[in-house]
Amino acid sequence: MSNVKDKVVILTGASSGIGEGTAQELVEQGAKLVLAARREDRLKELTSTIKENGGDAIYKVTDVTSREQMEELAKTALDHYGKIDVLVNNAGLMPLSFMNKLKVDEWDKMIDVNIKGVLYGVAAVLPSMREKQAGQIINISSVAGHTVGPGMSVYSGTKHAVRVITEGLRQEEALAKSNIRTTIISPGMVETELPNTITDDDVLQGLDTSELTPIQPKDIASTIRYAIEQPEEVSINEILVRPTSQQ
Ligand code: NDP
Repeated sequence: MSNVKDKVVILTGASSGIGEGTAQELVEQGAKLVLAARREDRLKELTSTIKENGGDAIYKVTDVTSREQMEELAKTALDHYGKIDVLVNNAGLMPLSFMNKLKVDEWDKMIDVNIKGVLYGVAAVLPSMREKQAGQIINISSVAGHTVGPGMSVYSGTKHAVRVITEGLRQEEALAKSNIRTTIISPGMVETELPNTITDDDVLQGLDTSELTPIQPKDIASTIRYAIEQPEEVSINEILVRPTSQQ
């Protein structure tokens, strides 16, 4: 039997891209999903499709930058399914820009979604996981969490933070012998809506000339499934997944 079956998984950023792909992958393995994002129309459609195909999912409109809404999301999962086995902190923004453009509002948004959203997610699920002495927190970082380049300073900073926070949490939970597993997934370039928030023309021109063929959301979804389906005593701490041609 799949080790994913009947696990209750909260998935943020489920309305598109990697999140949507992961929802489809996990539901095929029998997971029970609590889907979160801001765009209700997308969440509603995905949930309907999952149910029509015999899967089990609910959704909750959630802005991850609100601690209150993240607490509500965890409560929804506990009220409906009685437990939280896995949180996938996937929601993210990537409005890349050169720092001298001073797009400070965009810096703020990335910090709020990519870092604070992850922290609020951890805060929302840790108490029930500690009580149950089991659980898994999967945080989506990036290859940009291992490196940096022009135009990527703030985004890379947020993704480095996600990795460091996740590793620190891993060490604390190992010390406490809580049986809580932590996983960092660091994708390379994946074909999604993520670049849509980029407003810096210099960055956009750079992207246009890219000859790299991105991988697909399903390729990251299968990696997330792999991390979840391991036996409980096996903790996949970090995986990088790039297009083969990405430098
Ligand atoms: P998408 O833009 O397709 O998905 C981003 C998701 O985040 C959407 O579902 C969006 O939903 C959600 N989101 C954004 N802001 C908020 C918010 N404030 N509250 C709740 N949800 C929010 O991009 P990807 O699927 O590519 O991105 C998923 C993750 O993967 C991100 O963390 C990204 O940084 C990471 N990643 C992606 C890579 C790529 O090449 N695509 C590479 C490396 C990492 P909504 O707008 O409905 O709220």
